[in-house]
Amino acid sequence: MATENASPLRDDDPAARQRLASLKEFRSAGRGPWSEVSDGDWNDWRWQLRNRVTSLEQLERFLPSMTASERAGARLAKSKLAMAVPPYYFSLIDPDDEHCPVRRQVIPRMEETTTAAWEMSDPCGEDSHSPVPGLVHRYPDRVLFLVTDRCAAYCRYCTRSRLVSNASGYDFHPEFDRQIEYVATHPEIRDVLLSGGDALLLSDEKLEYLLSRLRAIPHIEFLRIGSRIPLFLPQRITPALCSMLKRFHPLFLSVHSNHPRELTTEAREGLERLADAGIPLGNQSVLLRHVNDDVVTMMALNQKLLMCRVRPYYLYQCDLIAGSAHLRTSVRKGLEIMEGLRGHTTGYAVPQYVIDAPGGGGKVPVNPDYVLQRNRDRVVIRNFEGRVFEYPEADDGTPLVPKPTSIEEAQLV
Ligand SMILES: *Cc1c(COP(=O)(O)O)cnc(C)c1O
Ligand code: SF4
Repeated sequence: MATENASPLRDDDPAARQRLASLKEFRSAGRGPWSEVSDGDWNDWRWQLRNRVTSLEQLERFLPSMTASERAGARLAKSKLAMAVPPYYFSLIDPDDEHCPVRRQVIPRMEETTTAAWEMSDPCGEDSHSPVPGLVHRYPDRVLFLVTDRCAAYCRYCTRSRLVSNASGYDFHPEFDRQIEYVATHPEIRDVLLSGGDALLLSDEKLEYLLSRLRAIPHIEFLRIGSRIPLFLPQRITPALCSMLKRFHPLFLSVHSNHPRELTTEAREGLERLADAGIPLGNQSVLLRHVNDDVVTMMALNQKLLMCRVRPYYLYQCDLIAGSAHLRTSVRKGLEIMEGLRGHTTGYAVPQYVIDAPGGGGKVPVNPDYVLQRNRDRVVIRNFEGRVFEYPEADDGTPLVPKPTSIEEAQLV
């Protein structure tokens, strides 16, 4: 039953090793077409937001190699999911590579208009688990608390496309008082996850207000924020933000990075400021076709995250969001990538692969089969190299214990 060693990094594959090393190099994003902009403006997150690439005209100017599909995509974005890319993140795009993994994530394409019967506008069934607007209560002891419909940039595969950017007219209006009231009156909730949209787009004051109201609820043990800002807009991770956040510990932050190229020196510095504020950092990636659906890219991403003190947390199978077929890959591929990571690299660099069950079943872990058989008296397993082992257990599934030594026998010894 030995399966083939899935690692691409055997000593006989120097090309893969070379690729891994180059993907892991830390580089600055540079300034792309914005070389004239002053340091003060460039490093100011509000300047970055004000100067986002949002229109077809800007795209023509900044990305002359735009394809016909991207041109059509940019036109259609207004009524579906807005296009908005901060100059910093835009500078990571390789203008000469139509398949650039950064480009694929944020520049709309015509394929987004093709939808299939099995695709949905709310693939995780969030709206049906929402007791008050902006709150999703699906799991017993924790809630998702949506704070805004804005993000620094819009991911073309976003599971909340129905809502974020408000291009399709969802008109999301969080009602903080009602959301907080719900949390306060449900003592089973011990964990609140602030997301959106991107919670770090709120001003320091607004965020501080929200965090202190939540912290004031005695049964809230744990706060966390989900944000793509450290990758899209690391300028937002100011010392002031970090010293405000650290007053609300235990506070965790999950970032969302999909490709090692997003981990620039700027992003690493922002992540270091957060880690230095004592905020444990996790990463959630989405498995995306031609972005990160190969072992070497995933290994580079996860190893590079560890260098930034970020622990890979989840790898998501891409949700069945309408118009995302060109960005999805198969579960089979995802499992193959997981096989290529587990055992082949640091355990901390291996996220849990999950499918958010279509229709609202929540996150379901999916793993390669390491248990080959469960017999009456043993479990047959294989390791990352495909070698087979057995672990004995009793007929009834209890641990195997030796026959007790009788008192007489014991005394003989
Ligand atoms: C993902 C998610 C959470 C958090 O799940 P964890 O597995 O605890 O990280 C909570 N609520 C909702 C609705 C979610 O989608
Ligand atoms: S940052 Fe998150 S919420 Fe915003 S568009 Fe991307 S995936 Fe969606």
